[in-house]
Amino acid sequence: MKLLMKFGGTSVADAQRIGQVVDILEQHHKAGDELAVVVSAQRGVTDQLIEVATALPTAKDNSAIASLIQSLSKRHIATLEGAAPDHVAEVGAAMEENLIRLENILNAIYNLRELTPRSKDYIISFGERLLAPILSAAIRQRGISSSVMDGCEAGILTTPQHGESTALPESDERIKRRIGPLLGKEIPVITGFMGCTREGILTTLGRSGSDYSASIIGAGIDADEIWIWTDVDGIMTCDPRVINDARVMLSLSYLEVMELSYFGAKVMHPRSIEPAMRKGILVRVKNTFNPSHPGTVIVRTGKRDHRVVKALTYIEKVAAINICGAQMIGRPGVAKSIFSILADNEVNVMMISQGSSEANISLIVDETHVSAAVKALSELAKEGIVRQVSHNHDVCAVAVVGAGMAGAPGTGG
Ligand code: ADP
Ligand code: ASP
Ligand code: MG
Repeated sequence: MKLLMKFGGTSVADAQRIGQVVDILEQHHKAGDELAVVVSAQRGVTDQLIEVATALPTAKDNSAIASLIQSLSKRHIATLEGAAPDHVAEVGAAMEENLIRLENILNAIYNLRELTPRSKDYIISFGERLLAPILSAAIRQRGISSSVMDGCEAGILTTPQHGESTALPESDERIKRRIGPLLGKEIPVITGFMGCTREGILTTLGRSGSDYSASIIGAGIDADEIWIWTDVDGIMTCDPRVINDARVMLSLSYLEVMELSYFGAKVMHPRSIEPAMRKGILVRVKNTFNPSHPGTVIVRTGKRDHRVVKALTYIEKVAAINICGAQMIGRPGVAKSIFSILADNEVNVMMISQGSSEANISLIVDETHVSAAVKALSELAKEGIVRQVSHNHDVCAVAVVGAGMAGAPGTGG
C-alpha cells in the first residue's frame, strides 16, 4: 500500500518516542508498503517560538533569544544523540546552522521592533525544520534510506495569508512530481505546517497545520490511505481532557470530522479533511503509543449506528451577536447587507441562526472580531436597515455532531 503517515508533536517529543515512530515505519517498510512521512515540531516548540517572537518587539532586552536558542539546541541535540547516534556530526552541523539562522532573524525582530506576519511565519516554521532531519536520520540509523524536505520543496504552494494559508490546486501536480519518484526507494520525511507562495515566500497553514500538510501530500501522491498518528486511540466522542469517559469512534464520515474539527476538536486541523475528501482517500487516526488499536477510520460515508448523536465538541470564548429589527421581516436584501458589511470588515462568521419570524439574526464570531463586527453592524442600524445590535462576550459554542441527526425526529428534544 502507498501510505502517507503523519506524526504529531507528542509522537516525536523525545528520542525514545522517535524510536517508537521508527518501529512503526520499519514494520510497514518491511511489509512492502511505500511510505512518505509528514512530521510536526516537538511538542511545545511552536508555542515557545511564538511566545518569544511576539514578545521581542516590546521586550526590554534580548535575553529571551539566547535562552530560547539554548533550550532548543539542548533538547534537539539530546533527541538526535538518542535517536540517531551514528548521524550526530552531520545532522548536528545542519541543526547548528538552522539555529544560527533563527537567532539572526530573532535579533533582527528585536532591533527593528517589528514582527510582520511574514517574518513570524518564517520563525515559527523552525520547530518542524529542526525536528524533521532528526527523524530522517533515525530512519537511516535502522538501515532504511531517507531524505528530508521542507513543505515548500515537497511542492505545497499556498495562498499568501500568513499564519492561515490554504493550499493551491497546483500543489497536487508538484507533489506528485517531487515525492512520487522517491516512494518505494526511500522514506521521504517532510516538514509539516508550512508551504510557500508562488513567489517562494514561506507560509504556515495555521496551528495544528501538519494534519493539513499530511492530507495535501497524501492527496498529491494519491496515497491509498493517510494515517494521522497522535497520542490518543482515535477521534473520541468528546475532548478526553475534559470528559474522562469519552469513547473512541471507530468510523466517521469526512463531513462529521470536518464539523468536529471546525467546532474546536483539537485532534485535527479544520481544513485537513478537504484534500483527502477530494480524492476519496481513507484517513485513519491512530495512537503511536498503542499501535495495535484500530483507531478511527474516516471515509465518505461513516457507519450509521443506533446513536444519532455521535460526538460533542465546543469552542470556548466566542462572542454572540444578536441583530434584531421588525423591519427585517419579509424585506429582501437585509441578510445580504449584514453579511456584506461583515465580509468588508474581514469578520469571519462561525455560525448563523435566524428566527422563523425573520425579525432576529444571531451570529457567532471569534472574540477577536467582535468589536469590528458590532461597529460595522451599527452602521446598518443608523441606516435603519436593522433596529438593534447587541452582543455577549465569553460565550461557548457547543456542536452536536452525527450524520444520522439529519431527518431523525426528536433529536433536538
Ligand atoms: P498531535 O501533536 O499528535 O497533532 P494534538 O495535541 O494536536 O496531537 O491532538 C491530539 C489531542 O487532541 C489529544 O491528546 C486530545 O487531548 C485532544 N482532543 C480534543 N478533542 C478530541 C477528540 N474529540 N478526540 C480525540 N482527541 C481530542
Ligand atoms: N507545530 C505546529 C503547531 O504546533 C503544527 C502542528 O503541530 O501540527 O501548531
Ligand atoms: Mg495536532
